Formats: sequence, structure tokens, C-alpha cells
Amino acid sequence: MFDPVEKLKEFIRHPSVSTDSKFRAGMKGAQEFVSGLLGSLGFSVDVVKTDLHPIIFAQRGGEKHWPHVLIYGHYDVQPAKPLELWTSPPFEPRIESGALFGRGSSDNKGQHLAHLNAVEAFLKTGTELPCNLTFVIEGEEEVGSEHLGEFLKNNRAELKCDAVVISDNGIPSLRHPALTYGLRGIMAFEIIVHGPSRDLHSGIYGGTLDNPAMALSQMLAKLYDAEVNYEKLKQTTAENNPLLISVVNEMEKIRPGILETIRSQRRNLQAGQSRLK
Ligand SMILES: [Zn+2]
Repeated sequence: MFDPVEKLKEFIRHPSVSTDSKFRAGMKGAQEFVSGLLGSLGFSVDVVKTDLHPIIFAQRGGEKHWPHVLIYGHYDVQPAKPLELWTSPPFEPRIESGALFGRGSSDNKGQHLAHLNAVEAFLKTGTELPCNLTFVIEGEEEVGSEHLGEFLKNNRAELKCDAVVISDNGIPSLRHPALTYGLRGIMAFEIIVHGPSRDLHSGIYGGTLDNPAMALSQMLAKLYDAEVNYEKLKQTTAENNPLLISVVNEMEKIRPGILETIRSQRRNLQAGQSRLK
């Protein structure tokens, strides 16, 4: 059985920054590392070329009637800049107080490697996996997954499955492991605020006409509630799924802890000590 920690260290040493063409070798190294591991576990591995970074598509079939589980991950990582904020080189993993520090360790190399370790450990027992298993590990998550949609469309039939497992989220704290049910969506839009056609004297017109910058600030401020309204959240949630009420209750309890974690991270950053992953 391979040592999961050593394997993770090996994986992190491939500097797979997808946003920067200088890291082409690191991207290739990381891709080959994952493909090799999957191949060694009996997966048929297809490295699907895209115009940018390839997608690893690995399948391990069994009986047709078994459930089909798909595991998603990404082998690319965020850029490691600014380097001076790291206490040790980002692509040279360091273990301290039971935690492993290195770029990509928790986003997302550690997670999909953990799934791979689980498959390896299971197979070592001499028992066949109780499911058909597919891994889709892409290399463009940090640059907007530009080619993933096309890949999904092209392989629709083979990707049809009973469950998709994505371990690319955070957990509130080490004491609160979480199964993420869903994430909030994102909305992007352009707002154009038209103002006067010429400069207006502040002493003469000030206070009587809206300054476009001020109007825009007021509009933006109205979009967001600074305080979370848990009661309102529970009402909305209950309509969708009563089970989620307990999650909201839990969220209310752990929010101060999350805020404190963020504050202490900020303090550490300001002190020049990076806790960047
Ligand atoms: Zn990620």
C-alpha cells in the first residue's frame, strides 16, 4: 500500500499552476502523476486533450447493474504569489503540528488523492469495488473550467451515473466535517449610472443632485444584508427542504468560530506569517 502522505507530498511537488504558461512542466507532471496512479489501480485512463490543459478521464467498470459513482477533482492549483508570505516554499510540502502545508494540498490535490487512497486500500483487501467508478480530474478549474462543458457533452453517455462526489469545498472547522448539499450561485452584471453631462459646481449643486458615484454606492449597499437574518433564512429554507433547518441552526452556532478563524488568519498575514494553503 502506498503511503498517502508521501504520495501527497510527491503530488504537491509538481507545480501545476494552470494560469501561467511557465508552469507547463508542472501541469504535465501533475497530470501524469494522477494518470499513473489511476492506471496502477486498474483504471482505464484516457487523457482527453483540450485547447489548454487535458482532462483525465478514468474508468473502472464492473457489473452493469452496480451503481456508477463519479468522482470529480482538479490537478491544477492557484498561483502561489506573493511568495514572501509563505513561511516555506509553496511547492515543497512541510508538515507542522499535524498539518501539511503546500500549494494545492487542500485545493484540490489532497481530496481526490484521498479518494484514490481509499480505492487502493479497498482493493488491497482483495475485494472488488462494489460500484462502477469514474474519475474526472481536470486541469482548468482555477481558470474557469473552460473546456469541461464540452467534455461533459461529448461523453454524456459514459458519464451517466448515480452519484457525483465533489470534494472541492471547505469545512467550517476540523471539528465540523461537512457534507456540502449545495453552494450559492453567482450573478454577474454591468450597471451603468448616468450622471450630468458636464461638471457641476459642488457648492451650488451639491446636495440637490445625485452624484453618480454616490448613487451607485447606495444601490450596491442595498443589495447585501450585513447581518445574516437567520429567521428569514429558516423560512425560505423550510419551503425548499425541512432537513436543511438543522443545518441553518448549526450555521448560526458555528458562524462566530468561522469569523474568528478568518480574523486570526488576517492577523497572521499582517504579522507576515502566511497560513496560505
Ligand atoms: Zn478547487
